[in-house]
Amino acid sequence: MPTPIPTIEWEITTACNYACSYCVQKSYVSKHGKHCSDETIAAVLPMIAELPGTWQIKLIGGEPLLHPRFFELCETLTQQGHALRITTNFSLPLEKYAQLAEIAGEYLTSLTASLHLEQVKSVDAFLQKASAFQRLKSENTDFSVTSVCLDETLEALQDVAARCDREGIVFSLQHAKFQTKYITYQRKEVEEFLNSRLLKNVETLQNANFFGTVCLTGMSFFRILMNGDVKRCYNIQPRLFLGNITKGTFRRFHAPLPCMSPRCTCTVPANCGMIQYGERVCRSSFLFTYCAGWFQTLWMTFARKFLR
Ligand code: SF4
Ligand code: SF4
Repeated sequence: MPTPIPTIEWEITTACNYACSYCVQKSYVSKHGKHCSDETIAAVLPMIAELPGTWQIKLIGGEPLLHPRFFELCETLTQQGHALRITTNFSLPLEKYAQLAEIAGEYLTSLTASLHLEQVKSVDAFLQKASAFQRLKSENTDFSVTSVCLDETLEALQDVAARCDREGIVFSLQHAKFQTKYITYQRKEVEEFLNSRLLKNVETLQNANFFGTVCLTGMSFFRILMNGDVKRCYNIQPRLFLGNITKGTFRRFHAPLPCMSPRCTCTVPANCGMIQYGERVCRSSFLFTYCAGWFQTLWMTFARKFLR
């Protein structure tokens, strides 16, 4: 079982300068998306500062580097001693990524550059920038290039994979999704190529069901949304909503709870070691938690709607 790494995923913007056809967030991500407000930032940063120990913070979007206070956030979070993990479409000039590497130094533990073939003007320029970043980043930064695998992009991606291998850059693939479901590939060789470079843990989560399994999400992992709302993970279940940081109603779990969703698509919590595979609570305790969880969820929904 992987060692749990306390992690926060913080959505700081819904703005993105790309419009990928396969974007799973395309219902709300756009060129005219919004940024996380100063009010929410002012509430979130002190909350993170008070957390026990060090956490890894994933700043996500949209394209997170488009947030006007992106570098300031990185500086504050790393000064607090937290590690940063950034996923970017890598479309900004190299200077921006160099600035990030300089501000965060060894605290930038991961930078993933997503290669969107249908959006980039030049794959050559993208890979040259990746090589340059590979040379200037801290030794502590895991740098990789990733791309969504499609039937029509097999040959282009094979070429990118070979070039990344030559430069010593890690290159991984993601299984494309259509409306949250993984697509079925038409060509067998595409599937073989995908499986040879599949992003860690994604495979184990296809059609996964951890209902009743102990999961540390809510305690050691949570997602902060643009308006300060906090969610345990991605899948609908009782006690998914943990309150709102801006309104002061956020409460982190004090102890691990079982998963109460019949479906798990949460690759980030899985990669952070949150799912305690094989560890289950006893049936009566689970039944109590499940019913109490739904009761609390319904009460909170009612209170938010009618008791303002
Ligand atoms: S770059 Fe990422 S967030 Fe932006 S449209 Fe493409 S997949 Fe969506
Ligand atoms: S859906 Fe996945 S991440 Fe969420 S509580 Fe269940 S096992 Fe954990």
